Amino acid sequence: MAEAQKQKPRMPIESGCPDGFQYMHPVMVKNFGQWSYHEHPRAGVLRHVAHSGDEIWTVKAGTQRILDVFTLRKLCDIGDEYADGHVRFTIRSNIEYMVSDAAKVQPLIGALESAGFVVGGTANSVTSISHTQGWLHCDIPGTDASGVVKAMMDELIDEFKNCNMPNRVHITTSCCQINCGGQGDIAINVQHTKPPRINHDLVANVCERPSVVARCPVAAIRPAQVNGKPTLEVDEKKCICCGACYPPCPPMQINDPEHTKLAIWVGGNHSNARSRPSFQKLVAAGVPNNPPRWPEATAIVKRILRAYKDDAKDWERINDWIDRIGWPRFFELTGLPFTKYHIDHWRGSRKSLNSSSYIRF
Ligand code: SF4
Ligand code: SF4
Repeated sequence: MAEAQKQKPRMPIESGCPDGFQYMHPVMVKNFGQWSYHEHPRAGVLRHVAHSGDEIWTVKAGTQRILDVFTLRKLCDIGDEYADGHVRFTIRSNIEYMVSDAAKVQPLIGALESAGFVVGGTANSVTSISHTQGWLHCDIPGTDASGVVKAMMDELIDEFKNCNMPNRVHITTSCCQINCGGQGDIAINVQHTKPPRINHDLVANVCERPSVVARCPVAAIRPAQVNGKPTLEVDEKKCICCGACYPPCPPMQINDPEHTKLAIWVGGNHSNARSRPSFQKLVAAGVPNNPPRWPEATAIVKRILRAYKDDAKDWERINDWIDRIGWPRFFELTGLPFTKYHIDHWRGSRKSLNSSSYIRF
């Protein structure tokens, strides 16, 4: 038996993404890497033309990302009846249908719209807001990112359906302050404003204390004894209320209905062939985390978008626009107050101010 095992090593279990080619539209498989150009005939539609002369039309519609099975089936039925049976989801929860016949585009749009879906989100529109899991899946959120997205996109629907912005606008949300999401032209992120409240009776039972101490970015946590029980304590003068101690140690509760707020950041962008990455900067802090419609945060996002739409030049992304006009003018145009909370006076920030991947001499 031992000998047989030696001869037949156990193969690794592949649990990553499946090979995408098996799901691709046949015209896309045939012309993979051979595309000549593309154009944008209307909001929500792209036309790609291959060197071979083949063409593929893509129709994009928004979804709410966390889809119930009935909606998913409805979307797939539309794909079977009006498209060529191939769909894909984008990182921003939009569904895309691919068809190789231009005559199918308009009936497909009609079917989507009559089923209540919104077609758009391409080129210089405000595409769907990307968001993290929120209360549905994750164990540490301080807000429901998907709820924020729904409330905001309801008000930005015309900007999704039309291409009226100077360039594309990518908005993100994140439901805690430390992990996934929250990096875009505009980002709506959780902001804790008070240090964690510690349930000393539970810490020793639930938390691996050394790893919680190691997790704090400003070394504000230290071991302690309370009522004869080993526990942890926080130096509140050092604590930056990041919430990093809460996931490994739930008795260090940081979410709070009143003191967990939202903050709005702007100007985050990845590096590309022409420019280095730009880091987003905080422009509104302490915004009420106010479900179910988050009106205060939505009003600020709309105000930023309005100023960007009115003042930016064609092709400027939000970070390019702010670089050109400067921060004082940004605050003037948006009418947002500039407060002491906008000044990064944390002593560790010197390092974060110098974190581009570009080599400097
Ligand atoms: S942002 Fe934070 S709370 Fe939200 S899903 Fe990611 S880890 Fe969980
Ligand atoms: S909230 Fe952040 S800074 Fe404060 S104690 Fe926890 S890990 Fe440290």
